[in-house]
Parts: sequence; structure tokens; C-alpha cells
Amino acid sequence: MRKIKEAIKEAADESKAVIEAASSKAKSSRVKLLEELDAKIRVCTACPLHKSRTLAVPGEGKYNAKVMIIGEAPGRNEDLTGRPFVGSSGKFLDHVLDGSGFDRTDFFITNICKCRPPSNRTPKTHEIETCTSLYLFNQISLINPGLIVLLGGVAVKRMLGLKTVEQARGRIIEHEGQKFLATYHPAVRFYREDLAEKIKEDFDILKAEMKNL
Ligand code: SF4
Repeated sequence: MRKIKEAIKEAADESKAVIEAASSKAKSSRVKLLEELDAKIRVCTACPLHKSRTLAVPGEGKYNAKVMIIGEAPGRNEDLTGRPFVGSSGKFLDHVLDGSGFDRTDFFITNICKCRPPSNRTPKTHEIETCTSLYLFNQISLINPGLIVLLGGVAVKRMLGLKTVEQARGRIIEHEGQKFLATYHPAVRFYREDLAEKIKEDFDILKAEMKNL
């Protein structure tokens, strides 16, 4: 597997070249490139997940967000609306953000995979590899966040190479030149209230870290 840093750097070099070549200002170029990525994601057929989706979910938020939030994959409501974290997990995420003094518009929110897996199964390795290589690393390079929040085991494994959220959560991690904060996926609140409390604790760490970004 290619190293994450190499993949993001490669995407950054490509994006930089295009940005430098553009005659308009860097801001509008960055927004335009993100919009172009969005358009590609919405019609993508690069992995089998395109067969089961209604709408792909590229992600949304500030083009220059200091923090990106990355979950696993869209669920039913996200698949129907084309927007990230708008179902019951999203409502809990909004609740946690609100409790920490944030609003979701402060961030760029997306997922490891942009299309809903059938019956909400876990995305397969080749689906994860394909989608992140084509889209997520490009989004990260364009947004250039100071910190990335990882929600759930799939995001933790792909971005940090760790097997479990427990190995990563509860602290800021520097990995390949990028800061990360890992926590559980908001969906855990439906079967583990104790873990839902830990998500809130982890967002308190984010709140404290924000002044360093
Ligand atoms: S999950 Fe990603 S790679 Fe697969 S079809 Fe959707 S956008 Fe394309």
C-alpha cells in the first residue's frame, strides 16, 4: 500500500501545478478544483459501490477549513440527499459539535468512501483504496487542514494504519506530517452509550487544540 503522505503529496503536486497555471486567484482555483472533484465523484463508477448508490456524497464545508472530519461511508439518508452526516448519526455529530461550541459549517465533512455500501456493510479494502486514492487525498491536499478528525475504525485504519479506534483515540497524533484526532463513529451511540460519552471527550480535545491551528 502506498504511504498516505506520498499519496497526499502527489495529489498536492498535481493540484499545485493546476493552481499555479490558473490565471484566477488561488482561492477561486481551489474552490473550482474542489467543485470539479465533486462533479467527478457524483458520476464515478470506479468501484462496485456505484451500483448500489442513489447519490454519491462528495462532502461539504469550508474550502479552507482548519479541520476536516472524515467518517466511513454514507448511510441511507446521506445516499438519498447527497449530503454527509444528515441522518441519525449526523444529528448526534451536530449535537456533539454544538456542545463543544462548534457549528458543522466550521469544518469540511466527508467520508473515506463516497458511495453507500449495500445494507450499510463495511466498505471493502479495494473500495477504500480506490476512493481515497482518487478523491479523499485530493480533497485533503486542496483543503490543507491543520488537523483531521477520524470517525470510526475504517478511517483510523486507512489514515493511520492502526487496527482499532482504542489505539488512537484520546490524544492528538502526528502521523506523516499531519495532525490527527481519532474517535468513535457517531453511530456507536445507538448501542454503546459509554462510547458516545468518549466521543464528547475527544471533541473537548479538539476544542483545546483549535487554538494551536
Ligand atoms: S465509492 Fe468512490 S470510487 Fe467507488 S464508485 Fe463511489 S466515488 Fe467512485
